[in-house]
Amino acid sequence: MNQLACPKCHKPLMLDGKTYKCEDHHSYDISKRGYINLLLNPDKSKNNPGDSKESLIARKAYLNTGHYDPILNEVVNYIKAHQKEHMEILDLGCGEGYYTYRMKQLLGNDHTYYGLDISKEAINMATRYDKDIHWIVGNSKNIPINDHSLDVITALFTVVNKDEIVRTLKEDGYMIHVTANRGHLIEIKHLIYDEVKVKSDKFIRLPFEVLESYDFKKTISIPKREDALNLLKMTPHYYHIKKEKRSVLDTLQGLDVTIDLRITVYRP
Ligand SMILES: [Zn+2]
Repeated sequence: MNQLACPKCHKPLMLDGKTYKCEDHHSYDISKRGYINLLLNPDKSKNNPGDSKESLIARKAYLNTGHYDPILNEVVNYIKAHQKEHMEILDLGCGEGYYTYRMKQLLGNDHTYYGLDISKEAINMATRYDKDIHWIVGNSKNIPINDHSLDVITALFTVVNKDEIVRTLKEDGYMIHVTANRGHLIEIKHLIYDEVKVKSDKFIRLPFEVLESYDFKKTISIPKREDALNLLKMTPHYYHIKKEKRSVLDTLQGLDVTIDLRITVYRP
C-alpha cells in the first residue's frame, strides 16, 4: 500500500502491473528506472525544470563525501525521537536523492518513503540509490499524495507550499524545514563576490504551530579541492561568478565553510 494520488483528480492511485491508475482512468507508467512521473503538462513549461545536470552531479558527489551529514543527522534524530511503528515519510524537493536514501538507511525499512522533485533528471539519478523508495517527478504545489496521509514531511533547502503541507499531513504529522541563515556558506560568498550583500529577507516563518526551532551552526573542513569545487557547483553562487574571479577557482584548495541553518519543526 502507498499513498500516491492522481495529480489530475487527486483520487488514490492503484498499482496495476507497471502502471498506476486512478478510478477516473488516468494512468501513469512506472519508468524503466523505477520512478513515476506525476508532473502535469502545464508544470513542464521549462524543458528541464529544476537544477542543472552539472549542479546535480556535483551535489551527488559532494553529499556522498558525508560532509553534510551533520545536517541529515539533525533531521533523522528528531524523527527517531518521535518514531512511530510505521510512518509515511515524504522528502520534498529531494533532488538527486541522497538525503532520502540516507534517511531510509538510518530509520529503517518499516516505513514508507517518498522522494519528490520537479526535476526528472534528479529523480532519474535518485533511483540508483534505492528501488524501494517511491521516487516521484512532481510538483510541490500539487503533491501527488492522498489527503492527511503523511506522518513526516522533510523539506531541506526547498520551497514549500503551505496549503499542500496542510492537506497532506496527518493531524499529528509534522514538517521539518531546513533553511539557510545569512551566514550559511559565507566563505563561498566572499570567494565569489566582491561585495557580499546581506539579504534583507528574513527567515520566512510558516503560519503553523512550531514544535521546535533552533539555529544550527557549525564549521566544516573540506580538505580536498575536488570536494570544495563540488560544493561550489551545487550552490547558485557558482553560476554567478564573474570572469575576473574565475582564477580563484584555479588556485582553490580546500575550504573551511560555515554551515548556518535554521531548523524548524512545524505542525499545521
Ligand atoms: Zn485521476
